[in-house]
Amino acid sequence: MQTSGLHKLIKVINLTDSTYILQIEKNGMQFEAGQHILLGKENDPDQREYSIYSGINDEHLEVLIKEVTDGSVSKHLKNLEPGELLNVEGPLGFFGLNKEKIKSGKFLFVASGTGIAPFHSMIKSYPGLDYKILHGIRTCNEAYGKEDYSKESYLRCASREADCDFEGRVTDYIIQNQFDKDTICYFCGNFKMIKEAMDLLEKKGIPGTQLHAEVYF
Ligand SMILES: Cc1cc2nc3c(=O)[nH]c(=O)nc-3n(C[C@H](O)[C@H](O)[C@H](O)COP(=O)(O)OP(=O)(O)OC[C@H]3O[C@@H](n4cnc5c(N)ncnc54)[C@H](O)[C@@H]3O)c2cc1C
Repeated sequence: MQTSGLHKLIKVINLTDSTYILQIEKNGMQFEAGQHILLGKENDPDQREYSIYSGINDEHLEVLIKEVTDGSVSKHLKNLEPGELLNVEGPLGFFGLNKEKIKSGKFLFVASGTGIAPFHSMIKSYPGLDYKILHGIRTCNEAYGKEDYSKESYLRCASREADCDFEGRVTDYIIQNQFDKDTICYFCGNFKMIKEAMDLLEKKGIPGTQLHAEVYF
């Protein structure tokens, strides 16, 4: 059920100079892994969408945010103090796993940057999931939360550093590799990456009905 109300900030966890997790009181909110919330400071009409990063059964609500240079909301949320109140609206959206496929499906998650957030929630929510993540990052330190994924299922595709798992963009990895036709694919992050990756996988024979996307910007 969608609700709107004030939630207390528990803490800000800084992962890199520009990327952080907000841990927020859940106030009983129930959601599907992959959904997002609208988030803003108390009494501030300026709100933005953020995918839920935590799992459905976790004690707290978490979001993973990249501070955007010249952005308004992402910059201010980072400087909040524990105990301050946030306006939270949600859960919102339909970017979720098909329940019937959770046990039997083979999933490919393709993310750029903080676009890994909904996949983190899916993996934490359904520990037995058969998945592979292609995470598009610039440098290895942007591999947020890599310890939460099994080593063989998480592939860092770094465009500006050679010693991650794969040197190049996620689209380069897709071009160079084969994928089973029954793979169910989810994409999240920037539009350009999503469009290119979807086109490539469709050309490799994966039906359009198995391609699902959430565009951040
Ligand atoms: C459904 C949905 C879920 C989202 N989930 C997340 C999430 O989990 N984590 C997250 O960090 N962001 C997420 N976003 C993006 C987020 O809503 C904001 O757009 C972002 O935080 C910038 O807000 P801002 O007010 O700081 O900047 P604004 O002042 O709103 O925008 C400044 C500029 O930055 C661009 N921009 C937005 N996001 C990025 C980015 N990540 N990198 C570079 N440029 C960007 C915008 O297109 C705009 O041109 C999501 C967006 C949508 C639509």
